[in-house]
Amino acid sequence: SSQVCHSCFRQQAQLHRCAQCRFAHYCDRTCQTACWEEHRQECQAIRRLGEVPADRIRLAARVMWRMHKDTGVASDSQLLPVEELQDHVADLPQEQLQRLHADVRTFQEFWSCGRSRPSREDIAHVLGIIKTNGFTLSDQRGLQAVGVGLFPNLCLVNHDCWPNCSVVLNHGNQSATNPALHSQRRVELRALGKVCQGEELTVSYVDFLDTSAERQRKLSELFFFHCTCQRCSQHLKDDAMTAAADGADAAEVQEVTAFSQECLEKIDRCLTGRDYQEVLALCSACLQKQRGLLADTHLCHLRVLSAAVEALSYLRCFPEAAAYALRLLQGYRKLYPPNHAQLGVAAMRAGVAHLQAGMPEAAHELICQAYRTLLVSHGPNHSTTRDLEAMRRQAELELKVLKQ
Ligand SMILES: [Zn+2]
Ligand SMILES: [Zn+2]
Ligand SMILES: [Zn+2]
Repeated sequence: SSQVCHSCFRQQAQLHRCAQCRFAHYCDRTCQTACWEEHRQECQAIRRLGEVPADRIRLAARVMWRMHKDTGVASDSQLLPVEELQDHVADLPQEQLQRLHADVRTFQEFWSCGRSRPSREDIAHVLGIIKTNGFTLSDQRGLQAVGVGLFPNLCLVNHDCWPNCSVVLNHGNQSATNPALHSQRRVELRALGKVCQGEELTVSYVDFLDTSAERQRKLSELFFFHCTCQRCSQHLKDDAMTAAADGADAAEVQEVTAFSQECLEKIDRCLTGRDYQEVLALCSACLQKQRGLLADTHLCHLRVLSAAVEALSYLRCFPEAAAYALRLLQGYRKLYPPNHAQLGVAAMRAGVAHLQAGMPEAAHELICQAYRTLLVSHGPNHSTTRDLEAMRRQAELELKVLKQ
């Protein structure tokens, strides 16, 4: 997290450290000041403990400090108090319960606020709420997870595997020279299309790109319910996500699927270690084996493609990255609902790769597609949407130069 500003979540090379705890990092004074109220007690606690506890414990501590400060309510626009959210502590298997108790002990060492000493049950309750309802926050570009947040109003929205809304973090704008133009960081619940009167608003709690069996497993493990939506009961799109190429031999397909899954585990490890040369080698070998056996919508194929695009972009092999990004996008289009954020982000990645590969015409078209999707999924005021606008102008400029 040392490369991400703790206030605006922007990735920066040169960040200033909080002089007191030496843990929090900020772009500048403006970002630091914007965060001070939230960081003040945490800063003291980190110095006292001499180390930084896990994100979930820091978040639990922030929730508790707010609850103490504002007499039980964490924010004024909140529809229900934090303590009324579900914690599912009673449903936890033994192993996870033990981890929760260890977290409670760490919390007790970390947190203090005058003379108040919350009970172990109260602490376990807040930690359980975060485990069940925590929302992963990503950096400004939406590419890297940087932390976890709790948004009580969002917890009221039920799950559907084909949702009509999505949640997006808007980082706000604290960088304008005129402070009057600054806007607060917030999460937005955005409709993905027209919602009829009386229709329930839904979001997806789990990754969309999974078969119904895999989604069911994650939903029951993490959220303790069994999904009965139409997509799950009718196994919609499962066939496409596991499809073989036309005329492929069934035994060979099974073999290459198992090989791909093993390979993907290695790829994930190398991605975490940022060993992009090795990622690329693994992806190339895997894609070679998949050829003629897996369909372009098979999840194993799409996951390997996605890793290949990341590695190729990092290694600055732009023409290859552009070609793979386009194939990835074509597969996604057959699976994702229109206006899904991931679809827009995939089009953006493809557009950027084409721009870097010196193909402004294709880049322009992809960037415009991405822009149309992000206008819905992220909204016109999101920094990523605005970045796209700048990229579109750049593509147009390059196109003009090319034509001359
Ligand atoms: Zn910042
Ligand atoms: Zn500090
Ligand atoms: Zn479902």
